[in-house]
Amino acid sequence: MEQILGPAVPSTRAVLRPIGIHDVVITGGPFARWQRINHEASIPLGLEQMERSGALPNLRRAAGEGEGPFQGYRFQDSDLYKQLEAIAWEHARAPQARYAEFTGRAAAVLERAQRPDGYLNSHYQVVKPDKIYTELEYSHEMYCAGHLFQAAVAAARAGIGAELLPVARRFADHLVEVFLTGGNDGIDGHAEVETALVELYRLTGERSYLELAGKLIDNRGKGLIAATGMGDLYAQDHLPVRDADTPVGHAVRQLYLESGIVDVYLETGDESLLECSVRRWEDLVEAKTYLTGGHGSRHDGEAFGERYELPPDRAYSESCAAIASVHWNWRLLLATGHGRYADLIERTLHNAFAASTSADGLRFFYVNPLQRRDDLVEDAYLGRRREWFACACCPPNIMRLVASLGGYVATATDTGLQLHQYVPGAISAGGARLRIDTDYPWDGLIRVTVEEAPQGEWELALRVPAWSESTFAALSWTGDDHAIGAAEDGYFRIRRHWQQGETIELRLDLTPRITYPHRRIDAVRGCAAVERGPLVYCFEQSGQPEGVEVDDLTLSPGSPLRVRAVDDLEGVGRTVLIETDAAAVEQPRGGLPYTSKPLATSTRVTATAIPYFQWDNRDGGAMRVWIPLA
Ligand SMILES: [Zn+2]
Repeated sequence: MEQILGPAVPSTRAVLRPIGIHDVVITGGPFARWQRINHEASIPLGLEQMERSGALPNLRRAAGEGEGPFQGYRFQDSDLYKQLEAIAWEHARAPQARYAEFTGRAAAVLERAQRPDGYLNSHYQVVKPDKIYTELEYSHEMYCAGHLFQAAVAAARAGIGAELLPVARRFADHLVEVFLTGGNDGIDGHAEVETALVELYRLTGERSYLELAGKLIDNRGKGLIAATGMGDLYAQDHLPVRDADTPVGHAVRQLYLESGIVDVYLETGDESLLECSVRRWEDLVEAKTYLTGGHGSRHDGEAFGERYELPPDRAYSESCAAIASVHWNWRLLLATGHGRYADLIERTLHNAFAASTSADGLRFFYVNPLQRRDDLVEDAYLGRRREWFACACCPPNIMRLVASLGGYVATATDTGLQLHQYVPGAISAGGARLRIDTDYPWDGLIRVTVEEAPQGEWELALRVPAWSESTFAALSWTGDDHAIGAAEDGYFRIRRHWQQGETIELRLDLTPRITYPHRRIDAVRGCAAVERGPLVYCFEQSGQPEGVEVDDLTLSPGSPLRVRAVDDLEGVGRTVLIETDAAAVEQPRGGLPYTSKPLATSTRVTATAIPYFQWDNRDGGAMRVWIPLA
């Protein structure tokens, strides 16, 4: 079978090389479950929404075929493009005639809507034809174009809908004529097109797409984005990218921009781009990342906050930010080979990202807080997951990542293979075929069997997550079973002449642990959280003893953590709960919520935590990740 490449395929300079979509077969675990519900529930819902939300009808109007007003936001086209990308990757994984049929139909509408000069944006063509490219600060015209390019690249690689690529290239050529060779120095207020242009360059070899991506990145921070009332940090226009030390402003914009920056480095070798992106990554991880891997501390402007400003209840942690973070970290991993990026991908996927979708795949979170009160009045976004949104950036974004997850599991070099994420199944690269048996993340044992041995000396690298306190490896060819320390770059490596049937058993430490926040995160100072392996836990009201409110719980630092596996928790499915001794504090109510007296009585109780990604599947009650210490 011809190799199908995934969403990001650097042509030069990558230390690690992505492997083909069919070279990773996922047979179980969370990734398989997410892909099953994506296939059975989310994608059918998304395809239906492309009519109902106005995405396709708007484009028909742009083609002069429909009646009625434009529906939704100015970036409504991007919902369709992300949906098309999702079904392209899904088609590569599990072909379906309906995906090809939908793609063909959508491509035909796009072709008819596209202007002869290549421009394509239903909002501006229908509502504001005289304003094209005059309000780039918030128009999302290039943002939408970027999503079209990514959809077209996915469709071309997946062999579905060959008609999309010519539409995308006409638009890209048009952008080149206007913004690269035409003298227009404008940049889009919402970064996205940069990473997409680089991928379109990788697919087509058309160098002007890469040059335009580089110019758009170089032009950021020169004050070229007109005032939107949101300030120049909002769209990362406060400083040139090489001078900015910390991620700022709208989180998704910053994170998409970083993908583009690393992509341009990977193709041009401009080290100053990689260097500035890594510098911001280090600051992001040190002071602006939630325990769940989520990003964005402010609802206002969907933005990063100050360093250590990480409130659990007001966390924005948009689902799209988790996705954008995975994209960026994947490119940094390819560029450097360092396991810290795969570690963050794992944390993000299993927590902030996984929580975005309900157990049945039919409802989604836009924001992913680490605490919810049960008496919400002011902020509907903090309510329960919803089927769809007026601003529906997240659901089709979730679908495209889930459909392409196989692309993020492993990489290859000329003389080896690197396993970054642990999923049961099979992986092939460089003449080797490996079978992976594991019940991860519920169990920490990962057995890798060499089903086909590569020729000559060959290196297998297994990621050892930073959270694994004591890790063991058993090697079948020596009978040796020993503790391993994590290597500097986060991988346990074995280089040798392999024989068929040899196995390595890696045992990661899934002992549940109490996690404490940095003292400067004032919002959770004096609190602790529970984690096990890659999973962050939370305490939901549902599941606590009768009469105990989750907001009244306190934990003791030395409390034992007891693991309880449950085959099928109602509404949730399979899980591993963690029980601990806690206290429920009773405080008098009424009057000012302050007192000079010590806290009132407390009762010993058994509190139960559930993996964060499984919350909000039972009822709409209170939830906390961080619990005050007694
Ligand atoms: Zn979103």
